Amino acid sequence: MPRKHRAAREREAPLAAPDRPRGVAPEWASAEGVRVQAVTGEKGKTYRCPGCQQEIRPGTPHLVVMEHEDVGFRRHWHTPCWRSELRRRGLSA
Ligand SMILES: [Zn+2]
Repeated sequence: MPRKHRAAREREAPLAAPDRPRGVAPEWASAEGVRVQAVTGEKGKTYRCPGCQQEIRPGTPHLVVMEHEDVGFRRHWHTPCWRSELRRRGLSA
């Protein structure tokens, strides 16, 4: 019965998007002494990326990097900027 198959697929499909873990940074982004979170930028705030000194526009998915387990050290980074920062520090795998 093709109808049954379609129904099963429809039940799974909508789950795929909302269930996608939020806040989980890509594996390459993590390093010792830092905690990295991925954010969607949906809050509508503009941040200044410490890597390139450019703005991170609202709605731009990017990374929040917390260093030394200290929320005062939380910085918003463009994803590619953080990647090169890790490389610069010699922390990238
Ligand atoms: Zn940047």
